[in-house]
Amino acid sequence: MAEYEAVIGLEVHVQLATQSKLFCSCSTRFGQPPNTNVCEVCSGMPGALPRVNGEAVRYATLVGLATGCTINRKSVFARKNYFYPDLPAGYQISQFELPICEHGHLDIRVGDMSKTIGITRIHMENDAGKSIHAQHENASYVDLNRAGTPLVEIVSEPDMRSAVEAVAYLKRLYAIVTYLGICDGNMEEGSFRCDANVSLRKKGTEPFGTRAELKNLNSFRNVQRAIDFEIARQQDVLDDGEKVIQETRLYDAVKNLTVSMRGKEEAHDYRYFPDPGILPVCISEEEFARLQAALPELPQERLERFMAMTSLPEADAEVLVASRAMADFFEAAAALAEPRKIANFILGSLQRELNATGKDISACRMTPQHLAELVQMIDSGVISAKIANDVFGELMESGVAPKDFIADKGLVQISDSSELEKIVDDVIAANPAETEAYRGGKTKLLSFFVGQVMRATKGKANPALVNELLAKKLG
Ligand code: ADP
Ligand code: MG
Ligand code: ZN
Repeated sequence: MAEYEAVIGLEVHVQLATQSKLFCSCSTRFGQPPNTNVCEVCSGMPGALPRVNGEAVRYATLVGLATGCTINRKSVFARKNYFYPDLPAGYQISQFELPICEHGHLDIRVGDMSKTIGITRIHMENDAGKSIHAQHENASYVDLNRAGTPLVEIVSEPDMRSAVEAVAYLKRLYAIVTYLGICDGNMEEGSFRCDANVSLRKKGTEPFGTRAELKNLNSFRNVQRAIDFEIARQQDVLDDGEKVIQETRLYDAVKNLTVSMRGKEEAHDYRYFPDPGILPVCISEEEFARLQAALPELPQERLERFMAMTSLPEADAEVLVASRAMADFFEAAAALAEPRKIANFILGSLQRELNATGKDISACRMTPQHLAELVQMIDSGVISAKIANDVFGELMESGVAPKDFIADKGLVQISDSSELEKIVDDVIAANPAETEAYRGGKTKLLSFFVGQVMRATKGKANPALVNELLAKKLG
């Protein structure tokens, strides 16, 4: 069996967070009643005149600047012709020969290895509507609210070699667009979505193999699983002496597999031509300079700053900068308590709860002030770290201030030595055999005693004090 290497290139669609659509003034708001944000332009009426949304152009330029692209001061919209019920004009307005941005790159890190992934191009285009098939057994519906929503498509070079690298690239891109504030980052609503092109080639050889394009990847986890599945599938095909066919495949997250959807179109199938109804997009020097000056601190810069603040290794600090919401949360809390301790809670308890509930930090009800308060309460001995960790989920869920929560539930740490002394005495009296063994030299039993005291106090005993008292009484 030959050894193969995966070759992966990603096409990422980012919905731009503008108020109105790309070529008309209809609202881009998500979740409105079907077909209420629609006009003659975005419903594709013949003769309607599209006008380019300047804010969308500025957003696209910012993405290009943040990814080291050349910004074309003049770019051109083109019609990409195909038929689908949710595309009423019969063509998508996209960019083909002259996209707004080209030749960028993004640095990623996997384990100890850094790598630069090339960005071929970034172009603007409008989104299609939505077909709804599940509502009726023998009818389909079309909702055009999304039709005309501005997108940028970010096309990478086929520079990635594993699903892990693809996810690292995607996460970094996600961080960039949310830092720029040009995308709301809501992956479930489709604001940030990706198609993955996957092929295999014999290790050590130059030419790329035939690729399959995977669609319907709406989470980082699905991207990883779909690519891993597809690599294994193509490997089987090749091992059987067959050929991979160029096609579009749909990922089924429930079954964790990809199924063939359609043969892959080539660019010439779309009969691209410049849209005769839209003037080229030009960016003046003043505008360009203004946008350059408006670039906020980007994930890489923030990562380096957070590493200096916390002395955390890069892999951990990455979590803190994964999205702007997360970085802002850390930054606000770290201004009020020791940054390293704040970071430890975010990397531990907070991540654990977010993963368990499938929530995003922006939906978290615990405020940065609450987290700082919690850390301060541990520092000053009011509660134990263990209790803080145990009740973290409830704190996040309820949004109650830690001080109130701890007082309410009677979780204040027992640091009164006379109170603890009595409990320690009881524990020693209740375990004569272990006491004797300890005194006979089995000092490892100390942790057994600590455990018993913690149990008797429901975890509220001050651990340093317990250790001290036990050592004294047992010794
Ligand atoms: P399209 O899918 O629109 O026809 P492109 O030619 O622009 O278009 O390629 C799309 C993506 O496929 C790019 O991200 C590119 O890096 C990637 N790609 C091209 N060839 C291969 C290959 N052999 N294996 C994996 N990815 C590839
Ligand atoms: Mg494609
Ligand atoms: Zn409209």
